[in-house]
Amino acid sequence: MTRKEILERFRSLTTWSRRGERAPHKPLLVLYALGRLAQGERWLNYGDVEGDLARLLAEFGPPRKAHRPQFPFVRLVNDGVWELNKDDIDTKRDYSSGFLKEQKVAGSLTEDVIEALRNDPELVQEIAGGLLEESFPETMHEDILQAVGLDSEYVRVLDSEYVISKRLKRNPEFRRMVLKIYDYKCAVCGFDIKLGSMPVALEAAHIKWHQAGGPDIEENGIAMCTMHHKLFDRGAFTFDRSLTLLVSDSVTGTVGVDEWLLRYRGKKLITPDIPVYRPARVFLDWHFREVYRGSVSY
Ligand SMILES: [Zn+2]
Repeated sequence: MTRKEILERFRSLTTWSRRGERAPHKPLLVLYALGRLAQGERWLNYGDVEGDLARLLAEFGPPRKAHRPQFPFVRLVNDGVWELNKDDIDTKRDYSSGFLKEQKVAGSLTEDVIEALRNDPELVQEIAGGLLEESFPETMHEDILQAVGLDSEYVRVLDSEYVISKRLKRNPEFRRMVLKIYDYKCAVCGFDIKLGSMPVALEAAHIKWHQAGGPDIEENGIAMCTMHHKLFDRGAFTFDRSLTLLVSDSVTGTVGVDEWLLRYRGKKLITPDIPVYRPARVFLDWHFREVYRGSVSY
């Protein structure tokens, strides 16, 4: 298999549904397997890794009552990058966690993928970088790499052909447009530090992630300081349809909780002067459903 073919297989992992529901199970499993491989462990016994996979899904996956790491553990075989130690498992079926443990089912990246990684150590960066780029906003990349035990040097993917082709589809004007309509201030806290005339630590957050098909348009963007952007992408807070800020009931802590979150709870987003650019309901609904970690419902 050529390098390109390998990357293509990882690129085509089926992870997003048509309704924009997040299903990052396969990318997280691959990233986890790459992390373990970096420590010299190839075959992963399902029973041994279930806890780790469930924690990754709980931390970085969508807010769901239950995550089922046993499904991707079998179904990833169909993507041509994963194999199991048992031939009699039907990879189109979903098995229970108990069955996989009882049968001592173990999984591994396929031999040809491992061979390619052996011959080309930089390939792991491209695979990991590509998976992150396609499934998660940038504010989460470093955290995920640390959680799976891959060194942050693997983030160095911007010069890779694989990622550039994807990035080109983004509108380079998005950040500029969004910061401008929010008058170069964080829409939550008003943060507006500049160095000279340049705003610092101010970012354009996508409400519906670019990775989920969220467009690069004003109605899908909110200017936020780096801290609020990260908290927003991780689902620590969201906005309801009236643009009132809701804080997740999963948030805990001593220093910072009041300053960064609770003091804004129930407050309205500082909206752009031009009403047509205000966040659109369809994107807010997506964030509420797929990212926000709170239990409040409409
Ligand atoms: Zn802020």
